[in-house]
Amino acid sequence: MKVVKFGGSSLADGPHVKQAIAIIREDPKRRIMVVSAPGKRSADDVKVTDLLIAYATAVLHRDDYAAIREEIIHRYFEIAAYFNLPQSDLQFIPQTIVSLAETSFPNADYLMAAFKATGERLTAFLIAALLNHQKIPARFIDPKEAGIVVSDQHGPNNATVLPETYDHLVRLQAFQEVLVVPGFYGYTSTGEIATFSRGGSDITGAIIARGMAAECYENFTDVDAIYAANPAIILNPRPIKEMTYREMRELAYAGFSVFHDEALIPAIAGKIPVIVKNTNAPYHPGTRIIPANDFTPQTTITGVACARDFSALYLHKYLLNKEVGVTLKILKILSAHGISYEHMPSGIDDLTIIMRSAQLTPVRRRQIALDIQAAIQPDSLEWIDDYAIIMVVGEGMHDRIGTTNGVTAALAQANVAIHMINQGASRISIMVGVRANDANRGIAAIYNYFEKEGA
Ligand code: ASP
Repeated sequence: MKVVKFGGSSLADGPHVKQAIAIIREDPKRRIMVVSAPGKRSADDVKVTDLLIAYATAVLHRDDYAAIREEIIHRYFEIAAYFNLPQSDLQFIPQTIVSLAETSFPNADYLMAAFKATGERLTAFLIAALLNHQKIPARFIDPKEAGIVVSDQHGPNNATVLPETYDHLVRLQAFQEVLVVPGFYGYTSTGEIATFSRGGSDITGAIIARGMAAECYENFTDVDAIYAANPAIILNPRPIKEMTYREMRELAYAGFSVFHDEALIPAIAGKIPVIVKNTNAPYHPGTRIIPANDFTPQTTITGVACARDFSALYLHKYLLNKEVGVTLKILKILSAHGISYEHMPSGIDDLTIIMRSAQLTPVRRRQIALDIQAAIQPDSLEWIDDYAIIMVVGEGMHDRIGTTNGVTAALAQANVAIHMINQGASRISIMVGVRANDANRGIAAIYNYFEKEGA
């Protein structure tokens, strides 16, 4: 049995939905279909989830929401019309969308979660109706019926799955039809809707695949494969045929966003192979993400990624190495400001603390600098904002000597200064801190070096 997930771009309009249905029809093992809300039909279109966020915001601000509500209803009816499915069979859709504005919620965050979740809920409802219309027996299964229980500890818009879910999911085995399950949300133990983080339908698919011990989890999206480098930087990069979960995790960390990194956790726990495929080219083999035990590296590096959303705090103090407890003091200050740090490379007299920029406001940055100044009196202290991290990832580098040499040689040839270099203890990744302006040149240099080497 296979769990198949279709992303928003794969369900954006009638022709895409037709393609998704053809994929389901083609393989009787594709028994569970997890769906996202319809995504963008063109580059300047708006995702249904974003329309729902705008609708929720208008309700909260008591603004006029009539037009946006119509727009959302239209997105579903447009798909139904493509298949000549009569609107009279689909009254549940406008009713649900209208009733959202009249429902009361514990607070604005729960309201937002419930509005957002409606995108996937109605997509699953519509697709189950379309499958039945096309004589493919199908059943809509809400996450409540499936038993997806989530924690709202980090807020109802940032849910995490609770372990009892996996005991509940076996109940899905009782059904014979194709089950269409909305992605992206579950229910808290008090019965409120809570969504995963954005793009979280991938997570639902992985949870169900694990709970059902599926033979694989096929994740249908709009690219042929995950590529060894960002196609916006490298022309025709190599498609990755196979990679391990931890390679995916490391690349996702630095911006490979085709597959949600949180979705790896259930896949890893259940040892479920994840196959990323293209809805528009399903004959393409795609990328398989598998356990390390089943993987034999064919190349030294599997991929090169880059994240630019970092800021670094650099401090210098003579004899820093001799002082006891300096790092502790700094980390306490960061913790008091609610900041998590990513890396902390250090030298004899200096230390750099690298963190995600999104956590920092100008006021907070100033305050952190003042607090550190007061606590450890560094000789100099400086915020570096244009910091980027290049991640060079590959199981193949584990047993090979000289990979770092290749990385640094490539960067030197491209005239890219290295501000930090770190090899993870797993020995499958090398992380290089560079100035953001140099990042693309750095990626190209590293990618080309290893491709040319025949890697
Ligand atoms: N529709 C949700 C989003 O846009 C979840 C998803 O597509 O996976 O974030």
